[in-house]
Amino acid sequence: MYRYTTPRFIQWFDPFLIWKMKKREQPTLYLTFDDGPHPTITPWVLEILKQFNARATFFCVGDNVRKYPEVYAQILREGHSTGNHTFNHLNGWKSEKGNYYANIDSCRELVDSKLFRPPYGKIRPAQVLHLKKQKYQVIMWSILSRDFEADLDKEKSLATLKTSCRDGSILLFHDSEKAQKNLEFLLPALLDHCTSRGFQFAAI
Ligand SMILES: [Zn+2]
Repeated sequence: MYRYTTPRFIQWFDPFLIWKMKKREQPTLYLTFDDGPHPTITPWVLEILKQFNARATFFCVGDNVRKYPEVYAQILREGHSTGNHTFNHLNGWKSEKGNYYANIDSCRELVDSKLFRPPYGKIRPAQVLHLKKQKYQVIMWSILSRDFEADLDKEKSLATLKTSCRDGSILLFHDSEKAQKNLEFLLPALLDHCTSRGFQFAAI
């Protein structure tokens, strides 16, 4: 069972990981989309974001950038930011460190960014320190949409997301096939709700 929000003790436990953003003048939310780019789902996300004048951050899998470079270019062209999500979506807990770092470097060749998000949110302290030395910012999240769950109660998820958003919250979604059905329900509704309550959406 996944939780929607990150327990506070975890946020406190590792100050090298970023779980929320600093306050700005206008209340701001930070949408993030992991695992793309995808040839149809990512352009759909971009269209929705455009409708709400929202900017977001896409943590891309290098191999998908290799397959769909034109979609990746569109993300940047429309004013969003991108981050490194390894080349093959590696689990930091299960990867030998040389492999893990080489996989991040391979992604970096296609994704010119110093933002990194560990696949599955799983990363070891030594890996975090290595990335810090390489000047990466390791971006985690404040709120998990759980959009990847096949049997998600969408109405309940939306209600929880609406009440969980705070100034500076980082929200995690996926531009992937697994999440598509839930994403199509949650994303426009959440953007509509939060925009009408005075939030702006910015890229990290
Ligand atoms: Zn991922």
